[in-house]
Amino acid sequence: LPGRIFEVAASPMPGGGAVAVLHDITRIEQVERTQRDFVANVSHELRTPLTSITGYVETLLDHENSLSPQAREFLTTILKNATRMNRLTEDLLVMARVESSEQELHPAPVRADILVRDAVQAMSGLVQDEDAVLEIGQLTDVEVFADTDSILQVLSNLIENAIKYGRARDELHCRVIVSAREISEPIDAIEFSVRDFGQGIASEHLNRIFERFYRVDKARSRESGGTGLGLAIAQYVVQSQGGSIRAESELNAGSTFIFTLPKAKTSVV
Ligand code: ADP
Repeated sequence: LPGRIFEVAASPMPGGGAVAVLHDITRIEQVERTQRDFVANVSHELRTPLTSITGYVETLLDHENSLSPQAREFLTTILKNATRMNRLTEDLLVMARVESSEQELHPAPVRADILVRDAVQAMSGLVQDEDAVLEIGQLTDVEVFADTDSILQVLSNLIENAIKYGRARDELHCRVIVSAREISEPIDAIEFSVRDFGQGIASEHLNRIFERFYRVDKARSRESGGTGLGLAIAQYVVQSQGGSIRAESELNAGSTFIFTLPKAKTSVV
């Protein structure tokens, strides 16, 4: 039927043959698309006024000497919240784009070790040497077939989380190990991992942290500038490129975020 979208489920019948069930999901798809467009439009529209608020407040704070202590305190709070809202609108926009497959992906063969090194290098600039140590673990130079920019974003996001939540209680230091290795089970692929030795995640939260806005500790996430969208975005990005993502964790021992990507096909010469 032209213009309609169907979901197909097929199952084999005993004695041969098969049954196929078609669900007309045109309406559901339309509603979801409308919701995505709405979120994208609202986020987009909020950007300009937010940039203006941030700009004016920053200018006022530049003239710190002419401000009363109370005015300075209030302006600092406004700036903090405007920055937080900015991050939220940015993340919502990215989320709407990846969900609607509008984000342009340009998959190509790229070496796994180069992705890891580039992500670690980019993040090293953001951490103070004395409070976080980013290490590179096992590496493989086998190529994956993926969109470099979006995968670097996923790796950076996981490293950022490891730095944010990867501190054991009362510990200032944190250690993060980023690796890439070849696996053959359950499929031939490259497995990337980001490991920390921090607080860990209780098992009841572990399979929910990839949901939109799900945060184990709302206050802590908010304090560190989290939006609760990072892992949901990472999951969409990885899955849309034929991979999968999961987390393994032990309370007070640390967490490992693992994602796979398909290998690039090697051409036979
Ligand atoms: P946020 O913006 O809150 O960081 P994410 O989607 O990136 O959102 O992560 C969701 C939640 O998962 C976080 O709020 C945190 O509770 C938990 N989490 C993510 N990474 C880690 C980690 N490395 N160690 C412990 N908890 C984590």
